[in-house]
Amino acid sequence: MKILTVIGARPQMVKAAVVSRAVAARQSSGVNIREMIVHTGQHFDKNMSDVFFDEMGIPKPDNMLGLGGLSHGAMTGRMIEQIESILQQDRPDWVLVYGDTNSTMAGALAAVKLHIPVAHIEAGLRSWNRAMPEEINRVVTDHVSSLLFAPTDSAVKNLLVEGIIGEKVVRTGDVMLDASLFYAKNSVGRPLPVDVGDCPFALVTIHRAENTDEPRRLAAIVAAMEAVASELHLVFPLHPRTRGALERHGLLERLARAATLLDPLGYLDMIRLEDECCLVITDSGGVQKEAYFFGKPCVTLRTETEWTELVDIGANKLVAPDDEKSIVEAIRSGMQVRVDTQTQLYGDGHAAEQIVDCLLSRGR
Ligand code: UDP
Repeated sequence: MKILTVIGARPQMVKAAVVSRAVAARQSSGVNIREMIVHTGQHFDKNMSDVFFDEMGIPKPDNMLGLGGLSHGAMTGRMIEQIESILQQDRPDWVLVYGDTNSTMAGALAAVKLHIPVAHIEAGLRSWNRAMPEEINRVVTDHVSSLLFAPTDSAVKNLLVEGIIGEKVVRTGDVMLDASLFYAKNSVGRPLPVDVGDCPFALVTIHRAENTDEPRRLAAIVAAMEAVASELHLVFPLHPRTRGALERHGLLERLARAATLLDPLGYLDMIRLEDECCLVITDSGGVQKEAYFFGKPCVTLRTETEWTELVDIGANKLVAPDDEKSIVEAIRSGMQVRVDTQTQLYGDGHAAEQIVDCLLSRGR
């Protein structure tokens, strides 16, 4: 079986790392399976892309498209065009796409038009907010996929609401749990990427367009960080989009006085911080879950989330990102939350193997 994987953005590298590992394990035990990787270049910097391939042992991409830094339409269109010609040449049995980026949707559309079946990992997630570019990518991808690997019960229910049912929906658990379990074991004893002394610290990440591209929200977030900085050390790896927006709106220096700002981190450094912090403050989808995997409370600077089960159990608190006072209150009360990680909300850490075995059992 020939699988062609399309990735391009940071979270997809984290997810693909464990699936590629499972493919390689089947291959070395004599199963006829082969993976080719197309990297669209949606994220291309060393610390947003290369570091993940190096640290996580992801096989080098067979094709690098270099399509980052374009508008949504231009990026998606060029990706479809270039992925289409790769698919015409290589004719894989399956195209594997991850999550909700432009690379996900482009890979899915290019494949389905050539009648090559698409398998979507992290299917069925919904924020029900169509203003998010990610929501459009998810909906389109789910509706053209032949196999939908849903990480949670709520993802399966969301697909049902949209009429996507039957054998093509498979509840697997979440490959991000597989990744954090595997790589946390590999990074035991690794020093933290920053000296935090003995004080408790919060790990902060912000990168969603709704927050970075809206000056009022960004200013409220910075003001909230200033308000809690004397109570809590803040460690903030900055996404390039966030750094750019802070610079444009004259907020970077203020934030630098309130928080320890870092360049984007590799995955191993990131999970070390998640393991050692006392609280996570984020608008990232993946980081909300990783907070839970490491037993840490989370404050999410969004009014909705795709990972509703964490809100239901009290591990994650949503807060409007334009409301400085509520952010401060949520951070103060978040520090008191004890997270119960006993329930297997995201599977048993073997989602990737289950996905590969399912692809093999379905054949073409
Ligand atoms: N991540 C990382 N370094 C960072 C910030 C995030 O390795 O500086 C990892 C994080 O641990 C998670 C993934 O990137 O595995 C989440 O990606 P991101 O927040 O960019 O996207 P989202 O999950 O919101 O789609």
